[in-house]
Amino acid sequence: MEKQTKSAREILQDYRGKKIRIMEVCGTHTHEIFRLGIRGLLSPDIQLISGPGCPVCVTPVDFIDEAVYLALEKGVTICTFGDLVRVPGTKMSLAGARARGAAVKVVYSPMDAVDYAAGHPDTQVCFLSVGFETTTPSSCLAVQKAKQEGLQNFTILTANKTMPSAYEAMKDAADFYLYPGHVHAITGTKDCLDMLDKGVSGVVAGFTGKEILTALAVGVAKAQKGEPFFVNCYPRVVTEKGSPAAQKLVAEMMEPCDARWRGIGVLKDSGVKLRPQWGDYDARVKFDIKGIESRENPACRCGDVLQGKCSPSDCRVFGKGCTPEHPVGACMVSGEGACSAFYLYGGII
Ligand code: SF4
Repeated sequence: MEKQTKSAREILQDYRGKKIRIMEVCGTHTHEIFRLGIRGLLSPDIQLISGPGCPVCVTPVDFIDEAVYLALEKGVTICTFGDLVRVPGTKMSLAGARARGAAVKVVYSPMDAVDYAAGHPDTQVCFLSVGFETTTPSSCLAVQKAKQEGLQNFTILTANKTMPSAYEAMKDAADFYLYPGHVHAITGTKDCLDMLDKGVSGVVAGFTGKEILTALAVGVAKAQKGEPFFVNCYPRVVTEKGSPAAQKLVAEMMEPCDARWRGIGVLKDSGVKLRPQWGDYDARVKFDIKGIESRENPACRCGDVLQGKCSPSDCRVFGKGCTPEHPVGACMVSGEGACSAFYLYGGII
């Protein structure tokens, strides 16, 4: 009997026609796509572009400089996720600060940092709060816990970002977005529908091989019709409303702010910071951080990579001066970074 429908894999392999550019916004998608060999399955007329959704990659150089300043000049113990330790700052990374005697401790959650502060009452402890809508609620909970426990020695340094401004800024780089499922598990689908109203297409994708292939195939099939579209291909996790409890928590404790994205610049209202009533837990307020002059390494093209303007292998130091062992830019440090994925998996475009 003749086959009636094509599988997701066949849709992606067999497509021929006008080039379809797809931006996978999320660093986890980037790495899963490489790890599962999905790029190698695609028709030559489908191009995947790695976007700005790796939290370490978009954290700007001035944030690293602030953390180094706190550690070396103020004697603050920095608690951070491991990837951030090796991200280059203007003069040094946090690993470099640690080699000069700074206290830099790797933790696995903001609550670990609160526990560390509780156990070391004579030490000022600062947690480096980075990431997107997915991780911001846990930083808020950590600050709440520090307050409940009456800790006077715990702060957070925020570089938390929100995705809608990035979607807006990158919208011309691709024909449709592969939206990050974990972000929209928190925020719901409203931001995607707002983008649809502006003519920007996308599909929300989960993280298994089957979920990614299905989302890509649905997007490619829709894109061929030439009309803007949005499809939630991860309905078992992403709902229309997302997580109202997480949204409420963040809205109560944080307020929007302009935020700098590494290599991209300042995007209006693309970040969140603690509201003034939580100033005792805000490292910038408590330690009066200001006037740090920062400079990105001019050889690094992370900004272009994060905006889909070039491939990591287009960077002249890729794989030569810049490797995972000796990273020049953040995209080579992070396990979710596009440059490290290209390096580790061979850079099939
Ligand atoms: S290869 Fe290294 S220097 Fe080049 S863009 Fe990537 S992280 Fe930056």
